[in-house]
Amino acid sequence: MKNKVIFIGSGFTKKEQKTVKNIIQKTAKDVAQLLDIKSDVTFTVYRFGIWTSGFTQAKDWIRINIKLKQFKEIDLVETVCHEMNHIAREYFGFSNKQYDLLDTLFAEGLAVAFGLHHSKIKKAPAIFQYRIANLKKWFPEIRKKLHSYSFSYDEWFHGVGRPMCLGYKIGRYLVDQIIKNNPEITIESLTKKSANQLLKLSKVKF
Ligand SMILES: [Zn+2]
Repeated sequence: MKNKVIFIGSGFTKKEQKTVKNIIQKTAKDVAQLLDIKSDVTFTVYRFGIWTSGFTQAKDWIRINIKLKQFKEIDLVETVCHEMNHIAREYFGFSNKQYDLLDTLFAEGLAVAFGLHHSKIKKAPAIFQYRIANLKKWFPEIRKKLHSYSFSYDEWFHGVGRPMCLGYKIGRYLVDQIIKNNPEITIESLTKKSANQLLKLSKVKF
């Protein structure tokens, strides 16, 4: 696997570029092995704002943004793991596939769980923490839209008119339930399963 790292803009010193490139390449290589990803991936890296985040644009292209202040290696590792999990699940922007609400909840839930597990982040960031009672309020609405392609990504995942990152929290809860029911199961093996198989394993009824 040959990964390329391309820096866009002038947000990094030469030394920072070297550090960031090493972290991305090492993490991507490890994850490609764990998740059996064969395609080479190009990472485009920008520096902006207050969050380190990523977006999987295509099967071979991940965009990464690194926050301006107090950049931490562990956040970048978590982001690369998260986005590579999307590639393994074939969940990306330039895709001919369509993803219904259930596919999307599991794509994000698995990416969050995988990112936290492999970066060894001890405590999930507040945006990924949940209270089951708060999530259950949304179950009737999920049931109605479960296999719909016409759900609003901004509402479910970006907090437009709903709690921030609601879909990520629900996805993480579903994956947590699967692991609770099957303690021997790995997130790597779950990444290969369909959303319907995963829902069965979770035993969650919407
Ligand atoms: Zn994601």
